[in-house]
Amino acid sequence: MIPVAEPLVTERDIELVNEALKSGWISSAGKFLDLFEERWAAYCGMPHGIAVSNGSTALDVAVGLLDLQPGDEVIMPTFTIISPAQSVVRAGGIPVLVDSEPRTWQMDVNQIEAKISSRTRAILVVHIYGHPADMDAILDIARRHNLTVIEDAAEVHGAEYKGRRCGGLGDISTFSFYANKLVTTGEGGMVLVRTTEMAERARSLRNLCFQKKQRFLHDELGYNFRLTNLQAALGVGQIERMEQIVARKRAIANVYSECLKDVPGIQLPAEALWAQNVYWVYGIVLSYEAGLTALQLSERLRKLGIETRQFFLGMHEQPVFQRMGLFGGERYPVAEHLARQGLYIPSGLTMTDQQIAETATALKECLA
Ligand SMILES: *Cc1c(COP(=O)(O)O)cnc(C)c1O
Repeated sequence: MIPVAEPLVTERDIELVNEALKSGWISSAGKFLDLFEERWAAYCGMPHGIAVSNGSTALDVAVGLLDLQPGDEVIMPTFTIISPAQSVVRAGGIPVLVDSEPRTWQMDVNQIEAKISSRTRAILVVHIYGHPADMDAILDIARRHNLTVIEDAAEVHGAEYKGRRCGGLGDISTFSFYANKLVTTGEGGMVLVRTTEMAERARSLRNLCFQKKQRFLHDELGYNFRLTNLQAALGVGQIERMEQIVARKRAIANVYSECLKDVPGIQLPAEALWAQNVYWVYGIVLSYEAGLTALQLSERLRKLGIETRQFFLGMHEQPVFQRMGLFGGERYPVAEHLARQGLYIPSGLTMTDQQIAETATALKECLA
Protein backbone atom coordinates (compact mmCIF):
# COMPACT_ATOMS: atom_id res chain seq x y z
CA MET A 1 0.00 0.00 0.00
CA ILE A 2 1.30 3.46 -0.87
CA PRO A 3 1.20 5.58 2.29
CA VAL A 4 -0.55 8.93 2.09
CA ALA A 5 1.13 12.19 3.05
CA GLU A 6 3.49 11.97 6.02
CA PRO A 7 3.46 14.76 8.60
CA LEU A 8 6.72 16.63 9.17
CA VAL A 9 6.31 16.37 12.95
CA THR A 10 4.14 13.77 14.73
CA GLU A 11 2.38 13.65 18.10
CA ARG A 12 5.11 11.26 19.20
CA ASP A 13 7.82 13.79 18.27
CA ILE A 14 6.01 16.43 20.32
CA GLU A 15 5.71 14.05 23.28
CA LEU A 16 9.46 13.39 23.21
CA VAL A 17 10.38 17.07 22.97
CA ASN A 18 8.00 17.80 25.87
CA GLU A 19 9.65 15.04 27.87
CA ALA A 20 13.03 16.66 27.25
CA LEU A 21 11.66 20.06 28.31
CA LYS A 22 10.09 18.68 31.47
CA SER A 23 13.29 16.86 32.40
CA GLY A 24 15.12 20.17 32.63
CA TRP A 25 17.87 18.86 30.34
CA ILE A 26 17.37 21.54 27.72
CA SER A 27 20.94 22.26 26.72
CA SER A 28 23.73 20.17 25.26
CA ALA A 29 23.65 17.17 27.60
CA GLY A 30 20.87 14.68 28.25
CA LYS A 31 19.50 11.29 27.47
CA PHE A 32 18.04 12.23 24.07
CA LEU A 33 21.44 13.34 22.80
CA ASP A 34 22.92 9.98 23.78
CA LEU A 35 19.97 8.11 22.24
CA PHE A 36 20.03 10.14 19.05
CA GLU A 37 23.77 9.60 18.55
CA GLU A 38 23.55 5.87 19.33
CA ARG A 39 20.49 5.21 17.20
CA TRP A 40 21.57 7.19 14.17
CA ALA A 41 25.04 5.62 14.19
CA ALA A 42 23.46 2.16 14.53
CA TYR A 43 20.97 2.88 11.75
CA CYS A 44 23.84 3.77 9.43
CA GLY A 45 26.07 0.93 10.60
CA MET A 46 28.81 3.02 12.21
CA PRO A 47 30.16 2.62 15.76
CA HIS A 48 30.23 6.29 16.90
CA GLY A 49 27.96 9.30 16.43
CA ILE A 50 28.74 12.89 17.45
CA ALA A 51 25.74 15.22 17.19
CA VAL A 52 26.51 18.78 16.11
CA SER A 53 24.67 22.00 15.32
CA ASN A 54 24.16 21.49 11.57
CA GLY A 55 25.43 19.73 8.45
CA SER A 56 27.99 22.40 7.62
CA THR A 57 29.58 22.28 11.06
CA ALA A 58 29.57 18.47 10.82
CA LEU A 59 31.76 18.90 7.74
CA ASP A 60 34.05 21.33 9.61
CA VAL A 61 34.57 18.66 12.27
CA ALA A 62 35.04 15.86 9.71
CA VAL A 63 37.62 17.87 7.77
CA GLY A 64 39.18 18.92 11.10
CA LEU A 65 39.86 15.25 11.80
CA LEU A 66 42.08 15.15 8.69
CA ASP A 67 44.59 17.62 10.23
CA LEU A 68 45.24 19.18 6.84
CA GLN A 69 48.52 21.00 6.29
CA PRO A 70 48.39 24.13 4.12
CA GLY A 71 48.16 23.00 0.51
CA ASP A 72 46.91 19.49 1.25
CA GLU A 73 44.31 18.39 -1.29
CA VAL A 74 40.88 16.85 -0.96
CA ILE A 75 39.14 15.41 -4.00
CA MET A 76 35.41 16.12 -4.28
CA PRO A 77 32.70 16.64 -6.88
CA THR A 78 32.31 20.16 -8.29
CA PHE A 79 28.53 19.57 -8.38
CA THR A 80 27.64 20.05 -4.71
CA ILE A 81 26.36 22.51 -2.14
CA ILE A 82 29.20 24.79 -1.00
CA SER A 83 29.54 23.36 2.56
CA PRO A 84 32.13 20.61 1.89
CA ALA A 85 34.31 22.86 -0.28
CA GLN A 86 34.27 25.71 2.23
CA SER A 87 35.19 23.35 5.07
CA VAL A 88 38.29 22.27 3.16
CA VAL A 89 39.27 25.82 2.21
CA ARG A 90 38.77 27.10 5.78
CA ALA A 91 40.96 24.27 7.08
CA GLY A 92 43.77 25.43 4.78
CA GLY A 93 43.28 22.70 2.21
CA ILE A 94 42.59 22.80 -1.51
CA PRO A 95 39.47 21.21 -3.01
CA VAL A 96 40.37 19.29 -6.17
CA LEU A 97 37.32 18.77 -8.33
CA VAL A 98 35.90 16.05 -10.53
CA ASP A 99 32.88 16.23 -12.80
CA SER A 100 29.60 14.34 -12.42
CA GLU A 101 28.37 11.25 -14.15
CA PRO A 102 25.51 12.35 -16.45
CA ARG A 103 22.94 9.67 -15.60
CA THR A 104 23.02 9.59 -11.78
CA TRP A 105 24.59 13.07 -11.28
CA GLN A 106 27.06 11.52 -8.79
CA MET A 107 30.81 12.20 -8.80
CA ASP A 108 32.43 10.51 -11.81
CA VAL A 109 34.67 7.88 -10.24
CA ASN A 110 36.61 7.47 -13.48
CA GLN A 111 38.05 10.96 -13.07
CA ILE A 112 39.39 10.55 -9.54
CA GLU A 113 42.72 8.81 -10.06
CA ALA A 114 44.02 11.35 -12.55
CA LYS A 115 43.53 14.01 -9.86
CA ILE A 116 45.55 12.29 -7.16
CA SER A 117 48.86 13.97 -6.29
CA SER A 118 51.43 13.64 -3.51
CA ARG A 119 49.35 16.21 -1.57
CA THR A 120 46.05 14.31 -1.77
CA ARG A 121 44.75 13.37 1.68
CA ALA A 122 41.14 12.42 1.24
CA ILE A 123 38.19 11.86 -1.06
CA LEU A 124 35.12 13.77 0.09
CA VAL A 125 32.13 12.08 -1.51
CA VAL A 126 28.92 14.10 -1.65
CA HIS A 127 25.96 11.84 -2.37
CA ILE A 128 23.63 13.99 -4.45
CA TYR A 129 19.82 14.37 -4.28
CA GLY A 130 19.10 11.03 -2.59
CA HIS A 131 21.21 8.72 -4.77
CA PRO A 132 24.46 7.09 -3.61
CA ALA A 133 27.78 7.63 -5.35
CA ASP A 134 29.57 4.53 -6.65
CA MET A 135 31.27 3.78 -3.33
CA ASP A 136 33.08 0.51 -4.11
CA ALA A 137 35.10 2.22 -6.84
CA ILE A 138 35.86 5.14 -4.52
CA LEU A 139 36.84 2.92 -1.57
CA ASP A 140 39.09 0.87 -3.82
CA ILE A 141 40.95 3.96 -5.07
CA ALA A 142 41.24 5.27 -1.50
CA ARG A 143 42.66 1.98 -0.24
CA ARG A 144 45.27 1.84 -3.00
CA HIS A 145 46.38 5.45 -2.41
CA ASN A 146 45.99 5.48 1.39
CA LEU A 147 43.34 8.21 1.42
CA THR A 148 40.62 8.88 3.99
CA VAL A 149 37.06 8.72 2.69
CA ILE A 150 34.52 11.22 4.03
CA GLU A 151 30.90 10.82 2.98
CA ASP A 152 28.68 13.90 3.04
CA ALA A 153 25.44 11.98 3.49
CA ALA A 154 23.17 14.95 4.20
CA GLU A 155 20.93 14.13 1.21
CA VAL A 156 20.84 10.34 1.51
CA HIS A 157 19.35 9.45 4.89
CA GLY A 158 18.40 5.80 4.54
CA ALA A 159 19.66 5.41 0.96
CA GLU A 160 21.44 2.16 0.20
CA TYR A 161 24.51 1.21 -1.80
CA LYS A 162 24.52 -2.55 -2.54
CA GLY A 163 22.33 -3.10 0.51
CA ARG A 164 24.46 -1.00 2.88
CA ARG A 165 23.38 2.40 4.15
CA CYS A 166 25.04 5.56 2.91
CA GLY A 167 27.01 7.21 5.68
CA GLY A 168 28.21 3.79 6.83
CA LEU A 169 30.60 3.11 3.97
CA GLY A 170 33.57 5.46 4.41
CA ASP A 171 35.87 6.32 7.34
CA ILE A 172 33.89 9.38 8.40
CA SER A 173 30.43 10.57 7.40
CA THR A 174 28.39 13.70 7.99
CA PHE A 175 24.68 14.45 8.06
CA SER A 176 22.45 17.50 8.16
CA PHE A 177 19.10 17.42 9.95
CA TYR A 178 17.86 20.72 8.54
CA ALA A 179 14.08 20.91 8.08
CA ASN A 180 14.19 19.96 4.40
CA LYS A 181 16.22 16.76 4.93
CA LEU A 182 14.51 13.38 5.38
CA VAL A 183 15.12 13.37 9.14
CA THR A 184 15.05 16.75 10.84
CA THR A 185 15.83 18.27 14.21
CA GLY A 186 14.97 21.77 12.97
CA GLU A 187 18.67 22.57 12.71
CA GLY A 188 21.17 19.85 13.43
CA GLY A 189 23.85 17.54 12.16
CA MET A 190 25.97 14.53 13.00
CA VAL A 191 29.43 13.15 12.36
CA LEU A 192 29.85 9.36 12.29
CA VAL A 193 33.32 7.85 12.71
CA ARG A 194 34.82 4.38 12.90
CA THR A 195 37.39 4.68 15.68
CA THR A 196 37.23 5.65 19.35
CA GLU A 197 40.15 8.06 18.84
CA MET A 198 38.35 9.93 16.07
CA ALA A 199 35.16 10.01 18.17
CA GLU A 200 37.00 11.56 21.12
CA ARG A 201 38.70 14.13 18.93
CA ALA A 202 35.38 15.02 17.23
CA ARG A 203 33.69 15.47 20.64
CA SER A 204 36.54 17.70 21.70
CA LEU A 205 36.38 19.83 18.52
CA ARG A 206 32.60 20.17 19.02
CA ASN A 207 33.02 21.50 22.53
CA LEU A 208 35.82 24.12 22.46
CA CYS A 209 38.49 21.47 23.07
CA PHE A 210 37.97 21.64 26.82
CA GLN A 211 40.20 19.05 28.42
CA LYS A 212 39.01 16.29 30.68
CA LYS A 213 41.70 16.71 33.34
CA GLN A 214 42.11 20.46 33.35
CA ARG A 215 39.07 21.97 31.69
CA PHE A 216 40.49 25.37 30.79
CA LEU A 217 43.79 24.14 29.40
CA HIS A 218 43.62 23.97 25.60
CA ASP A 219 45.86 22.02 23.24
CA GLU A 220 44.07 23.11 20.10
CA LEU A 221 41.29 25.39 18.87
CA GLY A 222 37.81 23.93 18.81
CA TYR A 223 34.33 25.22 18.16
CA ASN A 224 30.98 25.43 19.87
CA PHE A 225 29.03 23.16 17.53
CA ARG A 226 26.85 21.58 20.22
CA LEU A 227 23.31 20.32 19.55
CA THR A 228 20.65 20.59 22.28
CA ASN A 229 18.83 17.74 24.00
CA LEU A 230 15.57 19.35 22.81
CA GLN A 231 16.62 19.05 19.18
CA ALA A 232 17.88 15.52 19.77
CA ALA A 233 14.48 14.53 21.23
CA LEU A 234 12.88 15.50 17.93
CA GLY A 235 15.54 13.49 16.12
CA VAL A 236 14.81 10.40 18.23
CA GLY A 237 11.15 10.64 17.26
CA GLN A 238 12.03 11.05 13.59
CA ILE A 239 14.34 8.03 13.50
CA GLU A 240 11.50 5.83 14.78
CA ARG A 241 9.65 6.35 11.51
CA MET A 242 12.56 6.21 9.08
CA GLU A 243 10.88 3.37 7.23
CA GLN A 244 7.71 5.37 6.55
CA ILE A 245 9.70 8.46 5.60
CA VAL A 246 11.82 6.57 3.05
CA ALA A 247 8.76 4.71 1.72
CA ARG A 248 6.88 7.97 1.26
CA LYS A 249 9.77 9.69 -0.55
CA ARG A 250 10.08 6.72 -2.88
CA ALA A 251 6.32 6.69 -3.46
CA ILE A 252 6.32 10.39 -4.34
CA ALA A 253 9.10 9.80 -6.86
CA ASN A 254 7.17 6.87 -8.32
CA VAL A 255 4.06 8.96 -8.90
CA TYR A 256 6.15 11.66 -10.59
CA SER A 257 8.07 9.21 -12.75
CA GLU A 258 4.85 7.49 -13.86
CA CYS A 259 3.30 10.83 -14.85
CA LEU A 260 6.43 12.13 -16.60
CA LYS A 261 8.00 9.07 -18.17
CA ASP A 262 6.83 9.79 -21.72
CA VAL A 263 7.42 13.53 -21.71
CA PRO A 264 10.05 14.35 -24.33
CA GLY A 265 13.02 16.59 -23.56
CA ILE A 266 13.43 15.83 -19.87
CA GLN A 267 15.69 13.49 -17.93
CA LEU A 268 14.22 12.05 -14.73
CA PRO A 269 16.12 10.87 -11.62
CA ALA A 270 17.92 7.57 -12.12
CA GLU A 271 18.38 4.62 -9.82
CA ALA A 272 21.50 2.59 -10.55
CA LEU A 273 21.17 -1.20 -10.27
CA TRP A 274 23.24 -1.12 -7.08
CA ALA A 275 21.34 1.76 -5.50
CA GLN A 276 18.27 2.50 -3.47
CA ASN A 277 17.50 6.14 -4.16
CA VAL A 278 15.58 7.98 -1.41
CA TYR A 279 14.78 10.88 -3.78
CA TRP A 280 15.62 13.61 -1.27
CA VAL A 281 14.49 15.94 -4.06
CA TYR A 282 12.87 15.08 -7.38
CA GLY A 283 15.19 16.59 -9.97
CA ILE A 284 14.61 16.93 -13.69
CA VAL A 285 17.12 17.95 -16.33
CA LEU A 286 15.95 19.58 -19.56
CA SER A 287 17.70 18.44 -22.69
CA TYR A 288 18.74 21.23 -25.05
CA GLU A 289 16.01 20.00 -27.42
CA ALA A 290 13.44 21.06 -24.82
CA GLY A 291 14.25 24.57 -26.03
CA LEU A 292 14.28 26.26 -22.64
CA THR A 293 16.55 26.59 -19.66
CA ALA A 294 15.75 25.51 -16.12
CA LEU A 295 15.40 29.16 -15.14
CA GLN A 296 12.80 29.76 -17.86
CA LEU A 297 10.88 26.65 -16.86
CA SER A 298 10.92 27.62 -13.20
CA GLU A 299 9.54 31.05 -14.14
CA ARG A 300 6.65 29.41 -16.02
CA LEU A 301 5.94 27.08 -13.10
CA ARG A 302 6.06 29.97 -10.64
CA LYS A 303 3.25 31.66 -12.57
CA LEU A 304 1.20 28.52 -11.94
CA GLY A 305 1.98 28.73 -8.23
CA ILE A 306 4.64 25.99 -8.22
CA GLU A 307 7.94 26.67 -6.51
CA THR A 308 11.06 25.03 -7.84
CA ARG A 309 14.76 25.26 -7.16
CA GLN A 310 17.71 25.32 -9.56
CA PHE A 311 20.35 22.60 -9.32
CA PHE A 312 23.71 23.39 -7.69
CA LEU A 313 26.15 25.67 -9.48
CA GLY A 314 29.53 23.89 -9.59
CA MET A 315 32.28 24.95 -7.20
CA HIS A 316 34.52 25.87 -10.16
CA GLU A 317 31.97 28.53 -11.18
CA GLN A 318 31.73 30.18 -7.73
CA PRO A 319 33.01 33.78 -7.64
CA VAL A 320 34.19 33.37 -4.05
CA PHE A 321 36.59 30.57 -5.01
CA GLN A 322 37.63 32.19 -8.29
CA ARG A 323 38.66 35.31 -6.36
CA MET A 324 40.86 33.08 -4.20
CA GLY A 325 42.60 31.87 -7.36
CA LEU A 326 41.02 28.42 -7.21
CA PHE A 327 39.89 26.35 -10.24
CA GLY A 328 41.13 28.93 -12.81
CA GLY A 329 40.02 27.94 -16.30
CA GLU A 330 38.77 24.50 -15.22
CA ARG A 331 35.74 23.17 -17.07
CA TYR A 332 33.34 20.46 -15.98
CA PRO A 333 30.79 20.10 -18.78
CA VAL A 334 28.36 17.74 -17.05
CA ALA A 335 28.13 19.92 -13.93
CA GLU A 336 27.74 23.01 -16.12
CA HIS A 337 24.90 21.34 -18.03
CA LEU A 338 23.18 20.24 -14.80
CA ALA A 339 23.48 23.74 -13.31
CA ARG A 340 21.77 25.34 -16.31
CA GLN A 341 19.25 22.68 -17.27
CA GLY A 342 18.39 21.09 -13.93
CA LEU A 343 15.78 22.00 -11.35
CA TYR A 344 13.77 20.23 -8.74
CA ILE A 345 10.04 20.26 -8.22
CA PRO A 346 8.12 20.03 -4.92
CA SER A 347 8.38 16.62 -3.26
CA GLY A 348 7.99 17.29 0.47
CA LEU A 349 6.66 14.57 2.77
CA THR A 350 3.47 16.49 3.42
CA MET A 351 2.40 16.48 -0.26
CA THR A 352 -0.56 14.30 -1.23
CA ASP A 353 -0.65 12.10 -4.34
CA GLN A 354 -3.26 14.50 -5.73
CA GLN A 355 -0.88 17.47 -5.37
CA ILE A 356 1.93 15.51 -7.00
CA ALA A 357 -0.26 14.60 -9.98
CA GLU A 358 -1.33 18.24 -10.34
CA THR A 359 2.27 19.41 -10.24
CA ALA A 360 3.21 16.89 -12.91
CA THR A 361 0.31 18.07 -15.10
CA ALA A 362 1.39 21.70 -14.72
CA LEU A 363 4.94 20.73 -15.64
CA LYS A 364 3.74 18.99 -18.79
CA GLU A 365 1.76 22.10 -19.77
CA CYS A 366 4.84 24.29 -19.32
CA LEU A 367 6.89 22.01 -21.55
CA ALA A 368 4.27 21.55 -24.28
C1 LIG B 1 22.04 20.44 3.43
C2 LIG B 1 23.41 20.03 3.09
C3 LIG B 1 24.53 20.46 3.83
C4 LIG B 1 24.44 21.56 4.86
O1 LIG B 1 23.67 21.26 5.94
P1 LIG B 1 23.17 22.43 6.91
O2 LIG B 1 22.54 21.69 8.05
O3 LIG B 1 22.19 23.26 6.15
O4 LIG B 1 24.38 23.21 7.32
C5 LIG B 1 25.76 19.93 3.54
N1 LIG B 1 25.93 19.05 2.54
C6 LIG B 1 24.89 18.65 1.78
C7 LIG B 1 25.15 17.67 0.70
C8 LIG B 1 23.61 19.14 2.01
O5 LIG B 1 22.60 18.77 1.22
